[in-house]
Order: sequence, then C-alpha cells, then structure tokens
Amino acid sequence: MHMRMVPMQFPRRSVVLPVAVGSALALAACAAPGGMDDDGGRVPGGTDALQVLTSFYPLQYVTERIGGPDVSVTNLTPRGAEPHDLELSPVDILSIESSDVFVYLSGFQPAIDDALAQTEGPRVLDVAGTADLQEDGDPHFWLDPIRLAAVGDTIAATLAEADPQNAPPFIANAAELRGDLTDLDEEFSTTLATCERDVVVVSHEAFGYLTGRYDLEQVGISGLDPESEPSPARLAEIRDIVEREGVTTIFTETLVSPKVAEVIAADLGVDVAPLDPIEGLVDDSTDYLAVMRANLEALTASLGC
Ligand SMILES: [Zn+2]
Repeated sequence: MHMRMVPMQFPRRSVVLPVAVGSALALAACAAPGGMDDDGGRVPGGTDALQVLTSFYPLQYVTERIGGPDVSVTNLTPRGAEPHDLELSPVDILSIESSDVFVYLSGFQPAIDDALAQTEGPRVLDVAGTADLQEDGDPHFWLDPIRLAAVGDTIAATLAEADPQNAPPFIANAAELRGDLTDLDEEFSTTLATCERDVVVVSHEAFGYLTGRYDLEQVGISGLDPESEPSPARLAEIRDIVEREGVTTIFTETLVSPKVAEVIAADLGVDVAPLDPIEGLVDDSTDYLAVMRANLEALTASLGC
C-alpha cells in the first residue's frame, strides 16, 4: 500500500501548470455552489466556506467535528493509503498552497515537511506542540483520546482566528468533541482495569500512547516504521515474551501487510486479530470513535478483561 518516495522538485507558480492541475482546479471550483448569506456569514458548502486541508485521517476527523457545516475539510492522504510514506503530487502541493488553513503533524510525513519548507499561502497549524509528543519519536498521539482532545482545542482556536465570525460554534464543537473523547477515555480506563494480561503484541509499534495511558505494555514485532523487517534476534525475543506472558493474540493492522505477524502467530500457535492505529479510514461507515471502540473490544477479548 506504500507509494514510492520520489525526490521532489516542484515548479513554482510562474511555471505553466500541467493540464491535470487545471482540471482539478475547475472541478474544485464547480463542486461548491453557494455564497454569502444575508448576514454576510458563510453558507454551508458555499464557495466562501473556509477551506481546510488536513494531512491524515485523525486530523480530518477532529477538524470536521470542529468545523461543522461551515467549513470544507479535505484530507491529503488518499483513502486506504498508509500515511507515513505519503508522496505529494504537484496537485497536492497546489491544494496546500490554496487552502485557507493546513493542519498537519510535523515529523510524521516527511514529504509534507519538505513541501512546507518551500510553500507559501495557507495558515499552517502543526499539532505536534499540543499533542504533547513523547521523546521516543512515536508520532501516533491520536490513540490517546485525551491528547486528541487537546489538539481539538488548538484546531478550534486556529479556525476561530481564520474565521472569527464562526468562532463560537468552533469552540462549542471542540467542547462537545472533548466530551466524547473523555467518555471514550473512561470506557477504556474502566474496561481495561480488570485484565488478566497486560502485554499487547503488535506488528507495528503504533500503540505506545494507548498502552501508556491504560497501563498496558506494547511489544512491537517491527519498530515505529511499519515497513521494517524484524531480525531473527527480535523474533526470538517475541517468542519468549509470548510464551512467558501467556499472550493469546498478535495484532495486525489494516494498512500494513499482516504477513510477518501471521507467520509468527502460526508458528507460536496464537491468534491474529486486527488492532487499528487509525492512520487512515478504510470504511466510510465508521469513524474515529467507532474504530477506537472496536479496538477496545479486541483488546478486551485478547487480554481477558
Ligand atoms: Zn504509524
């Protein structure tokens, strides 16, 4: 599911744009009828609606919740793509430059860090500060609902600066989101307090913020990079941990091939089950809260809570 990284030299605005870029712009312009209402406010979905671009799904989810119908939110990482190795096309660069607000996480998607170094235009919000990132380089803060709520407050403040007329609903929506995330956090705390086991073996070490908040221990077959292959020494360690801790399940994820984990699980005679790091949404009928609750069910079944 990974796109290849290609060194990017994007032409500046003065260069004639390829035809595909022109068509994409025409489409974007045609897709949003509407305009100002009688009070001069933004019409839902209107051409003057605040255009916010987010870099990957959890930020899209939070921005949509906070923006409500007054804000048009677009996500940069394509559906079903694993976001770590996102590669940007010229159209993507253009969409960053033409957005009113761009919300991203620095250090997570290197192509975006590179592009922003040479891009002018949008109001840029890097959520790394409010996400309270750990020093181990783990970017997956959104698996901690409390950290995500803090990021929601920052996104609300940024949208309010960009569109002061709609500041009250943005702030109210952020408070509502915080309520939902606090409820989710309480469900996790309560449910996971009674587990028989506390070791969570995962294919990609994406769950440190979740296991950290709920007093579980994450053991990753690969490291933070979903593509790294485990060494024979690491595989021997995993075997020891699985046997010693009575691990019943090796967790795999939707956007990364489960092959290595499946081979190890078959070898050790344990189950394989999905645990979703929510880096992208595969199924439109679900959302962050629903996937987190599915994750809680998977953990409960595996850990005997
Ligand atoms: Zn990841």
